[in-house]
Amino acid sequence: MQDCIFCKIINKEIPAEVVYEDDFVMAFKDLKPEAPAHLLLIPKKHIPTFFDLKEEDAEIMGRIQLAAGRIVRELGLADRGFRLVSNCGRDAEQLVMHIHYHLLAGRPLTWPPG
Ligand code: 5GP
Ligand code: ZN
Repeated sequence: MQDCIFCKIINKEIPAEVVYEDDFVMAFKDLKPEAPAHLLLIPKKHIPTFFDLKEEDAEIMGRIQLAAGRIVRELGLADRGFRLVSNCGRDAEQLVMHIHYHLLAGRPLTWPPG
């Protein structure tokens, strides 16, 4: 997608601090971190929201969950845990219309989020 900022990151048209990448998934540091580790995990395929997911996307979305655990282990934070959260639509204040999970770790995370 031409005007999608995350697609531009995938295509290396704009820079990002990429911490994990495979054929399906990319993870990079959020510009405005809300925790010592704040990463964005995205499918490489442009999918705007959860409402746009198709059956064929199930594997890609599963691979994001697999990547999350791997990344947190590599960061040495597995014993502390992490939060994986996705904002979808207006009430959740989704700003970037390319599905993404926020991976937050490295501090106690209160519940419920705002
Ligand atoms: P959401 O859509 O879930 O509200 O959040 C979008 C997230 O993307 C925000 O946390 C914001 O800081 C992050 N973000 C927006 N633009 C960029 C960018 O160009 N690079 C990076 N690394 N993060 C971005
Ligand atoms: Zn996109």
